Amino acid sequence: MDDPGLRDRTPRHSRARSAVRVVRNLAAVVLIAGAAFLSAGLVYGDPRFVGLFEFNGGADAKPASAPASHPTASPAGRKAGIPADGSQMAVPPPGFEEQDQPLGQPQTPPSASKSYKFLATNADGGPVGYSPCRPLHYVVNSALAPKDAGPLVENAIKTISEATGIRFVNDGPTTEAPSQSRAPYQKARYGERWAPLLIAWTTPEQAPQLKGAVIGTGGSTHFSFGDGPKSFVTGSLELDAPQITEDLDRGDNSAYATAVILHELGHVMGLEHVEDPTQLMYPEIGAPDGLAAGDLNGLYELGHAPCRKDL
Ligand SMILES: [Zn+2]
Repeated sequence: MDDPGLRDRTPRHSRARSAVRVVRNLAAVVLIAGAAFLSAGLVYGDPRFVGLFEFNGGADAKPASAPASHPTASPAGRKAGIPADGSQMAVPPPGFEEQDQPLGQPQTPPSASKSYKFLATNADGGPVGYSPCRPLHYVVNSALAPKDAGPLVENAIKTISEATGIRFVNDGPTTEAPSQSRAPYQKARYGERWAPLLIAWTTPEQAPQLKGAVIGTGGSTHFSFGDGPKSFVTGSLELDAPQITEDLDRGDNSAYATAVILHELGHVMGLEHVEDPTQLMYPEIGAPDGLAAGDLNGLYELGHAPCRKDL
């Protein structure tokens, strides 16, 4: 159905389209680099761009409260928040809030679709996701948020929670700024657990990956012990506050901003871009109709990722 409001937005959409295309290309770069570091047994993580951030506890890492040892920290690894001396990467005690069963069940998608892709899979072919047996905490840095932005994020989180069955817990506001080297474990700030998902309303000055036309980025960090299965442990989502404020100030409805947030949350949960333009995970958000069948089927599978008492 044509929406005159959307047609009017053509110039802005083309800007956003090129933006997201840039992000997709960068995601591909990150994936390739990540694979290279993994095969070398090194730690890799670079939360600059949407997509895959990796941490590997190392072959000798133990799923215990002792800090995991890990091999030589590469420059990329240090950027990912590993101590500059490359000695050890601290991990929190395992199993924080982890229950025996998933805390929720994803809604069955209304129709079948294979139009989805995962950012990462494990050896068993299943997607890398968050443990559904523990809540996924998040914090919001809303210092630069557009007026009335609160419901945008809350509503998007609710949608993703229903689609995945993942239970989200709002830990409230944070002053943590987005960082290209965000540590996945920040004991001083967040206690003895993996850092919560950071949702930051920010600027291209603060988050350089948003320079130019990019309107949002999102992704998660996964962790494994040696060659064991990977699971996401934390993530971040950066929203270009000036750009989205401009959108909202134009008197548009919030559908486009909501689509951006849902798209980035899709990356956070583990979805990769798809070639199908009818899906929200298509890299060009031109028709903000929300999650489509492929998106929902992908999120449904991510909601069945394994539980992880060992992380
Ligand atoms: Zn994207």
